[in-house]
Amino acid sequence: MVGSLCGHCGERSFKRVEMSPRHSKYKITAIQCPSCGAVVRVMDNFNPGVDIHNIAVALGNLETQIESISACLPG
Ligand SMILES: [Zn+2]
Repeated sequence: MVGSLCGHCGERSFKRVEMSPRHSKYKITAIQCPSCGAVVRVMDNFNPGVDIHNIAVALGNLETQIESISACLPG
């Protein structure tokens, strides 16, 4: 199997680049040729696995805070 290559210069490696397009509220991720800068693919800058992990950590922190507040309450 032949690997992927840049359609512009023939380079066989690529890099991931985060971009902030003008007039956009959201960043995007581009797969770019490191030699000539040609963009071969654009994706949303969104990783559901990372977002779910961050939400789980935040919920864990909230649970800990609620438990410490509850321990201080008379009852
Ligand atoms: Zn290239």
